[in-house]
Amino acid sequence: MFGYADVEKLRRVCAPGSAVLSLYLAVPLDPAGTRGLAATAAELMASTAGLAGGSDNDQRSLARIDQADREAVLDALAVHGRDWAGHTVAFFACRELGLFEALPLPCPLPERAVLTSRPYIWPLLAAVQRCPDYRVAIADREHARVLSVSGSRVETIATQVDRGPRSSGFGGWYGLQAHRIQRRIIELGRHHYRDTAAILERVADDGHMPLVIGGHHDSIAGLLRALPPAAREEFAGSFHADPHTLTEARIRELAGPVIGLWVARRERELAEDVLAGPPGRLAAVGLQACLAAVGQGAVGCLLVPDDGLIPGFACDGCDALSVGPGECPLCGTAGRPVPDLMEEMAQHTQDDDGRVTVIREAPFSVAAKLRFPVAAEGGGR
Ligand SMILES: [Zn+2]
Repeated sequence: MFGYADVEKLRRVCAPGSAVLSLYLAVPLDPAGTRGLAATAAELMASTAGLAGGSDNDQRSLARIDQADREAVLDALAVHGRDWAGHTVAFFACRELGLFEALPLPCPLPERAVLTSRPYIWPLLAAVQRCPDYRVAIADREHARVLSVSGSRVETIATQVDRGPRSSGFGGWYGLQAHRIQRRIIELGRHHYRDTAAILERVADDGHMPLVIGGHHDSIAGLLRALPPAAREEFAGSFHADPHTLTEARIRELAGPVIGLWVARRERELAEDVLAGPPGRLAAVGLQACLAAVGQGAVGCLLVPDDGLIPGFACDGCDALSVGPGECPLCGTAGRPVPDLMEEMAQHTQDDDGRVTVIREAPFSVAAKLRFPVAAEGGGR
């Protein structure tokens, strides 16, 4: 399944002077809708953002899309269009570099076509963030299952059965004996949740992943209590269901929305966090402030909204980014137009080992958490 490794692989493709076509296209779920797909793709490519500058932008971008790249996209759609129903598909094509990738993404993203010297990747980052791999623990007093979910793939990675004192006489206890047996069940339960928590700790060794717990109310609470602090930090939420009736497909159906809410909550918290705090805090809000911070390599985490393109300029001499054309104030080289400053800032931030998070309904045009203070501040939201 598609992940950060794919993003990194594409990020390494960089060819100054050549034109990489990046196309994000939504393939309808309805088979009837796939018939008009080639026309939609052609239309998007005709309105490609990314050009050599000047007033006649569209004409210039059209002239620079390699005919072979355009046809490779349309051919791939003719062959695989139906298999991609319901997905946004990301295409990256540059004949000159021998590059052609078509990646069906796990969540819907805005459609767009961009022509730049490297693949246009921030929507890919949004896809990885919104549909992360995660684990699900399903537990009752006797059984536990741990599953791993990656895109549409669900796999049971551990199961455990603890045989309690349950017998044919389960419903027939009374008095003191019943009390003792009840206590024994509770102890077994605790022990069992600890075992399940240990399994979760063990599987967590191969990387941090959000965790969803499913089951009856008391089993969820029991397992949560048994989780070690590190594993509890990864707890994303829970769903109530009868563990005995759950298929792998149903588990994914129930856990998916829990993960969706968790991702949205984290986005909101990040955005609030960067806006909160006193002046002089380690944060930048607004385009100018963020351009300055990116220029100084100060960005620890860049928060970009998930819509819109902000055309601007990049300096080939010193890599500085700016909103307006003209000579670079730092080195005097003439600026080269770039179709989207957000993408450029995202690339620079990652080149400097910073993180990029895509925020829906962001309360700013762009913002950043900084590693150290930057001299220049300014710009609005
Ligand atoms: Zn410069």
